[in-house]
Amino acid sequence: MSAAPDLYSPDRLDRARELAAAAGVDALLVSPSADLRYLTGYAALALERLTCLVLPVRGAPFLVAPELEVPAARTTPLERLGVEIVGWAETDDPYALIAKRLPDDVSRVAVDNHMWAEKVVAFRAALPQAEQVLAGPVLRQLRVRKTPAEVEALRRAAAAIDRVHAAVPQWLSAGRTERAVGRDIADAIVAEGHVRVDFVIVASGPNGASPHHELSDRIIEPGDPVVVDIGGATADGYCSDETRTYVVGEPPADFVAYYDVLASAQSAACAAVRPGVSAEFVDAAARAIIADAGYGAHFIHRTGHGIGLETHEEPYIVAGNTERLEPGMAFSVEPGIYLAGRHGARIEDILVCTDGGGERLNLRPRQLVRC
Ligand code: ZN
Ligand code: ZN
Repeated sequence: MSAAPDLYSPDRLDRARELAAAAGVDALLVSPSADLRYLTGYAALALERLTCLVLPVRGAPFLVAPELEVPAARTTPLERLGVEIVGWAETDDPYALIAKRLPDDVSRVAVDNHMWAEKVVAFRAALPQAEQVLAGPVLRQLRVRKTPAEVEALRRAAAAIDRVHAAVPQWLSAGRTERAVGRDIADAIVAEGHVRVDFVIVASGPNGASPHHELSDRIIEPGDPVVVDIGGATADGYCSDETRTYVVGEPPADFVAYYDVLASAQSAACAAVRPGVSAEFVDAAARAIIADAGYGAHFIHRTGHGIGLETHEEPYIVAGNTERLEPGMAFSVEPGIYLAGRHGARIEDILVCTDGGGERLNLRPRQLVRC
């Protein structure tokens, strides 16, 4: 799929090459992944046949692809970016082909973090003299700060998932199963402008205490709190991810007791976002409020994760991450409180760090919605 040139900027290959050189890497090997899409706009599927971008620090970049994939690769920005497309036939050895094209003195190659193990091992055999390291530390330096065009793409994805959440109350009612509600939501995620549904969590009653419960045949009962966490990817590849918690009818008193604590915690963490503060500072802002109210043991995950071409990427908003936030970083703020066997709640927005502080991209109301 081709992509808008302002979204996949042409200088990324040069910048990646400079960062690789600074890290002592002789060549980046990037198989189909968000990294490949980020660098070239090519949204290739990861398959058993090798497709791989080879970006040597010295020398021209090329993409090795099975011949049957070459026509698709030619419709992408690859050649405009100066990447030669090299097809390989079914009986060729693509690893040997790459080894032959690389200089003999290549001593360190960086493989993308999500390359399949069988391909990593095949590269080790084809390039026995080359140490293998991960490309993540090089590429994260580019991907972690979003360009204005990327922020706009995240904003479009967030607006689309906001529209889905706006319709959720009409599908949530006692007597329906989580699965039936989930089907309505999945259809709406596509209808509202995503090309891919990545996850649909409809966690009713006690299922709400499991943060990554997806869908079951449980029938929603009167008085159930329901955690709805949904997301997908738009045509340009950028992801959405938003959680709201609803209640069908009258909520239980022990649920009402902590919902406002959670809303305050989420709001405090969003307000803590600004350039120069650490990722763990934002986590602590949410955690302190939840712990002070006596629910600390029930907030069992980090406060958030970066988002872009992947739903979960750096920076992670978690205790121990002392990385400073910078303008352009985009991530979720999603504290939760989970009472095993009873119910749970989570509120999640995507924010982008700007010079003036955190800007929420999701704009749905955060108070408890009664259906
Ligand atoms: Zn989520
Ligand atoms: Zn999330």
